[in-house]
Parts: sequence; C-alpha cells; structure tokens
Amino acid sequence: MAAPLDLPVAALAAAVKKGDVSATELARGALERIREKSALNAFLHVSEAPVLAAAAEVDRKRAQGEPLGPLAGVPIAVKDALCTTDAPTTCGSRILTRRGPDGRPGGAAAGWCPPYDATAVARLRAAGALLVGKTNMDEFAMGSSGENSAFGPAKNPVDPTRTPGGSSSGSAVAVAGGMASASLGSDTGGSIRQPAALCGIVGIKPTYGRVSRYGLVAFASSLDQVGPFARDVRSAAHVLSAISGADPRDSTAAALPAGDYAGACERDVKPLRIGVPEEYFAEGLDPDVAERVRAAIAALEREGCAVRPVKLAHTHYGVATYYIVATAEASSNLARFDGVRFGLRIEPERASLVQMYGATRDAGFGAEVKRRILLGTYVLSAGYYDAYYKKAQQVRTLIRRDFDDAFEDVDVIATPTSPTPAFRLGEKVDDPLAMYLGDVYTLPASLAGIAGISVPCGTTKARADRPALPVGLQLLAPAFGEEKLLTVAAAVERLAAS
Ligand code: GLN
Repeated sequence: MAAPLDLPVAALAAAVKKGDVSATELARGALERIREKSALNAFLHVSEAPVLAAAAEVDRKRAQGEPLGPLAGVPIAVKDALCTTDAPTTCGSRILTRRGPDGRPGGAAAGWCPPYDATAVARLRAAGALLVGKTNMDEFAMGSSGENSAFGPAKNPVDPTRTPGGSSSGSAVAVAGGMASASLGSDTGGSIRQPAALCGIVGIKPTYGRVSRYGLVAFASSLDQVGPFARDVRSAAHVLSAISGADPRDSTAAALPAGDYAGACERDVKPLRIGVPEEYFAEGLDPDVAERVRAAIAALEREGCAVRPVKLAHTHYGVATYYIVATAEASSNLARFDGVRFGLRIEPERASLVQMYGATRDAGFGAEVKRRILLGTYVLSAGYYDAYYKKAQQVRTLIRRDFDDAFEDVDVIATPTSPTPAFRLGEKVDDPLAMYLGDVYTLPASLAGIAGISVPCGTTKARADRPALPVGLQLLAPAFGEEKLLTVAAAVERLAAS
C-alpha cells in the first residue's frame, strides 16, 4: 500500500477523518521527507513549529468530534510569493531577505514577515490543510527554470541535473518529490503549467479572476493567477475548490462561486470537442514531445471526442506581446521595493537618501529583475509607449479574439505545454531570449485570461544524452471553463495509465 503521504488529497483527508492516520503523523512525515530531499532545494523556509501546531489542532478537533475541513491534515506547500503570517515571504529575492551566515533566509526574522495571509493561503488553512513551508522560485516569479532564485535553483526530482521549470519551481518539486500532497504556485505566463509538465505532475492555471490575488506579491497584475499543483487531476481539483471564489479584498476576483471541480473529474468526456491548433506544433517542438501529445489527443478521439483543427493565427506574437505587457506592469509593481516601504534597509549613516535608494535596488535585485524593470520602463516611456506598449495591448486583443473564435467550434484546446522536456540547469541561463522562447505555448492563454491545465501524458524515450523525461499536455478552456478542463484532464490521466 502507498504511504499515507502519497495518497490522493481526498483519500488522505478521508483517512484523517476516519482516524486511520493522524494529522501529526502526516506533518512529521512531510517534514521528514523535506529533510531527506533537501538537496533538491525545493523550500526556502520550512514551517516546522507552525505545521506541528496546526496538525495538533486538527487532531484535537477530531478527538472532540468537531467538524473537519475538506483538506484536514493534508500537507500543502506554498510558493514564496504568497503572504503568510507564520513564515517569511521573500519571493526568492534578496531584497526581501535578511540573510543568515549561510546566505539563505533562515528563521522568521530573516525575511519580510507579512502581517496577513494571502486569501488562497487563508482558505487552505480554513479547510484544515497543513502548510509545511514556502517554496523556492525565480525571483519575483520572473523566469522559466528557477535559476533566477537568489537562493540557487530547485532541482528536478526526475533528474537533478535538470531544471524543474519555473517560476514556481519549488512548488512543483515539493509535490513531484513527495514532500507535500499538493502546493500552490502562481502563473503569470506559464509558471504553474510549465513546471508541472517538466516534473510530470498536474498544474492548473485558473481563469484570471477565478482565485483571489490578495496577498500574492504582484509581478504583472493583469496576468497573475494563483493555482494548485498535485500528483493527480482529482487532487488538484480539490485544492482548486478550496481556494476559488469571490473575495471582497480583490476587486478582480470574479463574483462567481467555485464550480464543482471534483464532480467534473467524473463526467463523461465523449460529448466534448477538442481543438488542435497547428500553430502549436511548429518548428522547435521536440519530436518526442510532439509524439506523446499527439498520442494523448488520439486516445481522446478513440474515447469518442470529436477532434478538429482550430486556427490561432496570432500565436506567433505571443512571446513579444507578453514580454512587453508583463515587463511594463512589473516595472510599475516593483517600484514599491525602494528600501523605504519594502526592501533591504541600508544603515542611514552609510548613505544619503538618494544613494540609499540606488544601493538598495542594486544590492537587492538580481540581473533578470533589473533587466525587466529597465525593459518595462522603456516600453512605457513617452515616445515609445505607442510603438511598444499600446501596440502590445492591441495584439493582446487579437490573441484573445483568436481564442474566442476557436471556442465557437470546440470546448477545449489541446497543445504541448512546453516545446521541450526538462532542460539542463545552466543550459539557457546566459541566453534570456532562448529562455523566453520556451514560454511560447503557455503565454497566449495568459494574455487571453483563459483557463489552463498541464496534465502528464507519458515520457520521452530514453536516449544516450537524456533519460526518459515527463511530457505535459496543455488543455485550455474559455474563461471559467475549469470544469471542462478537468473532465478532459481526468480522461487523459486515465488513458495514459491504461
Ligand atoms: N516564464 C515567464 C516569465 O519569465 C512566466 C513566469 C510566470 O508565469 N510567473 O515571465
């Protein structure tokens, strides 16, 4: 039998309710795994005392016959971009961190400690989840490999010489490595879907507005979305149910109740029509990835789904459009880290206020964040605004319309999540453009604000230069179409296993 920690989320919560396993045992088990796998660098902070206290509270409630939440006793890890009252929030950046002697953020005093929980975090706590710690990430969620973390990259459990993807690297590794049953990440342009694909797990980018962004440190506010990772589709659906829904603290969170995500996983896939955009099978796509993705689509067709081509003509502009819109928004959002309101403080006797401002940013931000602030400031500046930012907004509309038109004919669109499987750490660090191009299949859905999921669909063939590596199938649905996504994803999971 699987160790309790490896059970799907619903089965684990049921086992806790029944008393087959205590929340305290689960918390200890997760902490033990995190220690055993510390070389994967998945966590920036482990919440040892708080998680044991939360587990004791679940066990007390059970002993006294009080009602338990739907995630009672389930160990969940949280990306370090989400505010938590019981652990520092560093966003993988030195600017929010006071370092210990080993250069890493240490105890609670070593990083910025927000006075509030993000809404998604508060909802997990209310559901009884055990928040085991904060996970490693590309600094301010900017990156696709985890290598922009100020604290060293997380490593792919399938092959630790390879990237787990990014920016939600640690959240994917924590789940793929069995250190947590599920985790939260954030996806601005693919940061949940791509690491899920590269680590062989499930990752959901909900529709923009499906999950509150309150307490998510902002990168690009018109794109950022919080979402879950899990090892199976149903587990991801359960976590999505817990975190979804309107929030008076985030006016962009839609005033819609959460859907029936668990129920959607059990529905018949046959009536759903699947669209396949040829633009997503273009040059640069790894042949093994293409083969696995096409095989998953063929299996859906054998199940009775109508599969037909769709046209997403502006796909090609996605990378350029995203890297203008996202950097423009980032340059505005990151202006708050000025060393006065947020950020590392330089001793006043060492600098004038003006120098202090410059020195703080220099000592605090890594190269990629600085590159993006510069790029974003440039595209918004007088004289360039119309040529770059305004043009990008216009193309964003065209990309959204492509999806609107395609969804007239199909329910769900199926594509590869990433053009390649996990690449080697170090392979693209010196070439930001090559790194940006790897986001080609995830960015358009972010620009359109629609729902997406990455679900495992097998592995590449082992070769002399690389082992068998996980491949992710990306499914996209219209805004608030998460239920359809989950129906198809659950079918893909079942067919891949058979
Ligand atoms: N890789 C993309 C970027 O670097 C997306 C990041 C994200 O989704 N947070 O911006």
